[in-house]
Amino acid sequence: MQYISTRGGMQPLPYCETLLEGLAPDGGLAVPETMPTVDGETLERWRALTYPQLATEVLGLFATDIPRADLARMTAAAYEPFPEAVVPLRAIDEDLTLVGLSEGPTLAFKDMAMQFLGQVVEYALERKGSVLNILGATSGDTGSAAEHALRGKDRISVFMLSPKGRMSAFQRAQMFSLDDENIHNIVVDGVFDDCQNLVKKLAGDLDFKRAQNLGAVNSINLARITAQVVYYFWAWLRATDVGGWTEVSFTVPSGNFGNILSGFFAKQMGLPIRRLVLAANENNVLDEFFRTGVYRPRSAAQTLATSSPSMDISKASNLERFIFELVGRDASRVVSAWKDLDDKGHFDFTADLSRFIEEFGIVSGTSTHADRLATIEAVYDASGDIIDPHTADGVKVAREYIEPGVPMLVLETAKPQKFAETIREAIGVELEYPSELRAMLDAPQRTTEMADDEHELRAFIEANALR
Ligand SMILES: *Cc1c(COP(=O)(O)O)cnc(C)c1O
Repeated sequence: MQYISTRGGMQPLPYCETLLEGLAPDGGLAVPETMPTVDGETLERWRALTYPQLATEVLGLFATDIPRADLARMTAAAYEPFPEAVVPLRAIDEDLTLVGLSEGPTLAFKDMAMQFLGQVVEYALERKGSVLNILGATSGDTGSAAEHALRGKDRISVFMLSPKGRMSAFQRAQMFSLDDENIHNIVVDGVFDDCQNLVKKLAGDLDFKRAQNLGAVNSINLARITAQVVYYFWAWLRATDVGGWTEVSFTVPSGNFGNILSGFFAKQMGLPIRRLVLAANENNVLDEFFRTGVYRPRSAAQTLATSSPSMDISKASNLERFIFELVGRDASRVVSAWKDLDDKGHFDFTADLSRFIEEFGIVSGTSTHADRLATIEAVYDASGDIIDPHTADGVKVAREYIEPGVPMLVLETAKPQKFAETIREAIGVELEYPSELRAMLDAPQRTTEMADDEHELRAFIEANALR
């Protein structure tokens, strides 16, 4: 299996080489040259597998350049910190079932992909005999998942920028209490966009990037997208009966279109998925796109800070991979859509709108702060279950798309403990923290404070990067 760029300008590369790259050299995103497919017989055979075994099978279709035994070792190590089921399903009423993706070390679904990424990036670097310095910006969940997955690795160091005073106490503790030498938490005097601009400046300086072995593990990373495909298969296998060729629908609380894109891959691979329901918060550029066919990213100033902060995006970095399929894998049409975006501030696929649902099964909806609070309360009253604000956005929108005879699975993208303030506001409950989390909250914190200054950051990386 080789990977090509959505913009047509990359020599096909195998999996291990693709996952060390960020954007393709032509500015596009890596996609499989042909999507692997899975037949019904294979699906039935997979019912007996544990989560790591299933991950080996699914990822083996993408990572054909990794021997099976190596892949099996890596998936076992990746999901070792999780409870035995790894991804438990639980019904909250007769209509909806939650898919528990937040059982990992940082209590959000990003662990599902990052834990595997930590394994496979180290493996790819060993094979190449090289090192990687990860440079990233985070507003919370990505940074902590990356750091917990990459801490203590020999060939990898992490330089993670975060905006001063903008993360929750829990998120700060999760990152800043790590004392591993390869983890550098850089607190920037600025907002998230300032952090991201600093990353863009340094990563865009190709000489600096090469000299410092800089890389990224952001949501466009191929290892993350492929690792997320696994749990769509897992959830389908748990939600359907042996021999039943039932379609299920998934609702996905969405920001950068990474999680739902993996569901889209699963559907293209032949998994019987009826609808992929995209749930957005107030920053609903994607809901707008799937309802109207017009994609109009917003500026940082137009992006609201909401109570489901991990979905606060102004543009959706993975959407290009969907557009590539929408235009029949014609890279020239992808390029012209992005040219429209540069020239006019939007692109327009209204002519293809009916295909969004009929061909691709994607529908969408928006949930607001008031919806989130009401949903958390309603679920709590009905089942005693406490869901996090992002999952609540999913539950709210899922209810708009329930169909008789089609199980509706909502992805639980975080645990409520991460967002205790909103839970208190919704139901007046103070969440309990288990002792290891309390210890983490109380642990000493270690950061490097920095002005919003490119030169200071360059100097820090030059002094501390692995080589
Ligand atoms: C990252 C994140 C999302 C959004 O996922 P995307 O892949 O960016 O669409 C939703 N919920 C939580 C809790 C997250 O951390």
